Amino acid sequence: MAYPDMLSLKGQSALVTGASSGIGRAVAVALAEAGADVAVNYHGSREGAERTVEMIHALGGTAVAIRADVASESDVKALYDTAEQALGPLDIVVSNAGRQKDAAIGDMSLDAWNAVLSTNLTGAFLVGREAILRFRRKGMRPEVSRALGKLIFNSSVHERIPWAFRVNYAASKGGLKLLMESLAQEVSEERIRVNSVAPGAIATEINRAEREKDDGEKAMLALIPYKRIGDPEDIGRASAWLASDASDYVVGQTLFIDGGMTLYPEFRGGG
Ligand code: NAD
Repeated sequence: MAYPDMLSLKGQSALVTGASSGIGRAVAVALAEAGADVAVNYHGSREGAERTVEMIHALGGTAVAIRADVASESDVKALYDTAEQALGPLDIVVSNAGRQKDAAIGDMSLDAWNAVLSTNLTGAFLVGREAILRFRRKGMRPEVSRALGKLIFNSSVHERIPWAFRVNYAASKGGLKLLMESLAQEVSEERIRVNSVAPGAIATEINRAEREKDDGEKAMLALIPYKRIGDPEDIGRASAWLASDASDYVVGQTLFIDGGMTLYPEFRGGG
């Protein structure tokens, strides 16, 4: 098969969590551009999810918005049931939902710790576990993909780079690294591909306050060798590639998409 044809997701169904905004929306749209039908999960913003669905309809694609809290076991099961009723068995799942609740350690409440861990890590576990169960039930569909299923987590450069004043977030993403790798080790022999994308600084709601501070963007750019803040579409395109047969031999990897942030640019010429 020629390389451009391998990028096609035609005939496949996908679920993207936290797709009412930011990176999740861009991933949902990129998967639809590649031909997949997409279930657009949201938690707070129904309007945001409907906007994502409209963007996919405008491309001539198929999409449906479904509310669920990824930290709730019963919500996650119901999310998959509704997605499969609407689109048929799922071939691709992108566990993207995530949040921050920053505080210095002395001020970090247990609630702030639990809120971030339950969405970013427990949510990834619940969404990932259900993806594996559903892929198994679906069975191979060699006419659309060489893999039984593709599960992609949205991690962060902070699965590698420690982050002061945000220990809850960094711990959740550090945990996600070994969740992804251990899961990949467990299920790869079933032809289930588990991988992560790890974004650097991408312009979305999650970091708007940080970017809009005086010199906020300048401080971010100092950490990025490539000297631009990322767009959600940078992650969308990479996720669509990771979901496609063009990356069929990529298993258990974290793809850093960060303009070089993980190169520790402060060491350039010094250190
Ligand atoms: P965002 O705030 O626009 O998106 C987060 C999404 O997750 C929202 O749609 C929100 O409704 C959803 N969400 C939060 N809690 C949820 C829950 N319990 N159930 C279901 N959905 C829930 O910000 P974003 O930057 O697009 O974040 C998306 C992912 O990207 C997160 O996992 C984040 O950690 C990761 N990330 C972002 C950046 C960045 O620079 N923007 C960098 C690295 C990693």
